[in-house]
Amino acid sequence: MKPKFYLTTPIYYVNAAPHIGHAYTTIAADAIRRFKRMQGYYAVLTTGTDEHGQKVGRAAKAAGKTPQEFTDLISAEFRRQWETLGLAIDRFKRTSDPSHHKVVQELFLRCQKNGYIEKGSYTGPYCVFDELYVSDANPGDPCPICGRPTETVTEENYFFKLSAFRDRLLELYEKNPDFIRPETRRNEVLAFVERGLSDLSISRTTIQWGIPVPAEGHHVFYVWFDALTTYMSAVEGEGLWPADLHLIGKEILRFHAVYWPAFLMAADLPLPKQIFAHGWLLFEQDKMSKSKGNIVRATPIQQVAGADALRYFLLREIVFGQDGNFSYDALVNRYNSDLANGLGNLASRTLAMVRQYRGGVLPASAGNAEIGALAGRVIESTIAAYENFEFSKALETLWGLLGAADKYIVEQAPWTLAAKTDDASRQKLDETLYTAAEVLRIACALVYPVIPSSASQIWKQLGMTGELEDFLWKDLRWGQLPAGQTIGEVAPVFPRLDPNKVIPKMRALEEQETARQAALMGKTPPKPVPEEAPAAAKISIDDFAKVDLRVGLVLSAERVKGADKLLHMQVDLGEGAPRGIVAGIAEAYTPEEMIGRKVVIVANLQPRKLRGLVSDGMILAATPEGGQPVLVTLAADVPPGTRLR
Ligand SMILES: [Zn+2]
Repeated sequence: MKPKFYLTTPIYYVNAAPHIGHAYTTIAADAIRRFKRMQGYYAVLTTGTDEHGQKVGRAAKAAGKTPQEFTDLISAEFRRQWETLGLAIDRFKRTSDPSHHKVVQELFLRCQKNGYIEKGSYTGPYCVFDELYVSDANPGDPCPICGRPTETVTEENYFFKLSAFRDRLLELYEKNPDFIRPETRRNEVLAFVERGLSDLSISRTTIQWGIPVPAEGHHVFYVWFDALTTYMSAVEGEGLWPADLHLIGKEILRFHAVYWPAFLMAADLPLPKQIFAHGWLLFEQDKMSKSKGNIVRATPIQQVAGADALRYFLLREIVFGQDGNFSYDALVNRYNSDLANGLGNLASRTLAMVRQYRGGVLPASAGNAEIGALAGRVIESTIAAYENFEFSKALETLWGLLGAADKYIVEQAPWTLAAKTDDASRQKLDETLYTAAEVLRIACALVYPVIPSSASQIWKQLGMTGELEDFLWKDLRWGQLPAGQTIGEVAPVFPRLDPNKVIPKMRALEEQETARQAALMGKTPPKPVPEEAPAAAKISIDDFAKVDLRVGLVLSAERVKGADKLLHMQVDLGEGAPRGIVAGIAEAYTPEEMIGRKVVIVANLQPRKLRGLVSDGMILAATPEGGQPVLVTLAADVPPGTRLR
């Protein structure tokens, strides 16, 4: 039987729609799950959504929904995000799931039975907005999180006797130096616990949307007792607890490294093996935040550059555990230098040469001994770096092998060898091709956890059978590429990205995605700062009223033969029969992207003919200087035919 490896991401709070910060943690977790499987573990990854609390109740109200309707919607949004990114999620648990409630209540009863729960009351400053007791503030002081004035409240609470666990926690950290990683984070927690711990309020009577405390109808559990327990409830009865790894962002370290093990100790339950806190993702050197409006979403990047481009960037560019910086420029640079020019170029060169010089059949050879020896060392150190969650180092090490292979190919000059017919040259060419292809095979096996889809593609192109995800690293060594194997269909895996084209496209899609998510949350999207434009001649309201702008639903779309820029669409304007409309947007939108989309149409233009097709209306789009057209979208769904004014 395979040993198990159970890992989790945080259970994401549904007061925000998924953004790149959520994606960062979840992508890293997915990469760990994949490499653990390649190490022979039965690796299981849990993620989910944290759905209770006053903030969710408030957000639901703002969106005109019940809390359950609202959390259904946002939770589905998270689930869909992970599907879009191709992440291998094994368990997706929602805290509103009744099977989760039962586990939380059981944990509480166990703690209570062991004497670690007390009823008490809290009197002191409270932030209504953040549902936060600010016990170290004076009455009326601003809330440390949101800055709103606090109110003095008295509330009956259940308390968890956290103060009783100081010594046991310190002993845990002492005996298990790897319990909290990285080291800097461990030191923070140690210092915090050494100062002594206060008891923790774990229930509220002021909140309705939550899990009831057993036998106390008017108390519900407050945040952490509820949310953290998801890690157990997600795999209840499966024999997977305790978790081998909780992967988290550093801002929630204290809850995971102090509260959570204390809850479990109090209930006599096994503790997780390790907590790893990664750093923050900054946007162009600034912390991403809702209020700054500089949050980036993963979907636009995935749509333009592919999920593997995002995965590679996040895990290569940022030292896992430290803060890192995201920018579109850096993403495109990384992609072009390491994937298009690096791995992609090695793959297409090698496979093209095998095709051209050996009819697509991999020649027999032991390969170059020096490169073979280097590959052996790289396999070992890359795997060691993965085990230590040093993704960036793992990739850097592996790219060292790719660089050596490139240099070797240039030195051997296979194009010159191919022109010669003597045995020595033939053998030399065989050795060169074999060496390059074998490096490629090893690289695919080692890079798979980070770029699973692209690595699998190259693996197939090499003619390898079997799924890369089932490959075991213990079987990886130099010289196992089967000679005589016919390579598969060869196609470029990493087409070069032109920053002048793809960056405006990602930014435009990002704006659309922001608007879509805002509409989902029942908010008006943030207005982009208007650009200064020269004042145009003014028209009267009557002039404007002559323009009939209507919402249209694209029913079908196809490319126009011989016209790269044009799409021919059938658009429903709520008129009974759809209209044929031709628009110059084909370089920015595929037919598939257009079908089902709502657009804004100038409905009373005189029909005109384009490439022999009648266009009965015009689609509105904004075209930035030197960029691609970006369609005008609506912040909420309205029926086709709706007039704009
Ligand atoms: Zn506050």
